[in-house]
Amino acid sequence: MITQPSYCLFCETELKGRSDKQFCTPHCKSLYHNRKPNSDEAYIRGINQQIRKNRSALRTACPLGKATVSKNFLKKLGMDFKYLTHSWKSNGGNLYYFCYDYGYMQVDDPNKVLIIQQQQYMDK
Ligand SMILES: [Zn+2]
Repeated sequence: MITQPSYCLFCETELKGRSDKQFCTPHCKSLYHNRKPNSDEAYIRGINQQIRKNRSALRTACPLGKATVSKNFLKKLGMDFKYLTHSWKSNGGNLYYFCYDYGYMQVDDPNKVLIIQQQQYMDK
């Protein structure tokens, strides 16, 4: 059984311990409940949380270096393929889609992707 990390609803810090916790501190909780509703912020926050979830799914599926995994497995880990941070094209022309420092590439099997970790040379 893999447990998903959860994040403070206000500051998005990863929460340790009890899985039903929503905030890292009582301070965050009161800030969250006292803030003015702002739909732009909520929208951005929702996407940020999904991209974090995606990174966490990729990391869980690929703890070391590279791994080819099924898309369904990633979806079960909480991955939503719509959300990314950036893309990178290798010299060989392969296009990788990243969520922070973890990326994936479509392989010949349409149900699978190759996961990689970002390397320094990819920044150039
Ligand atoms: Zn917090």
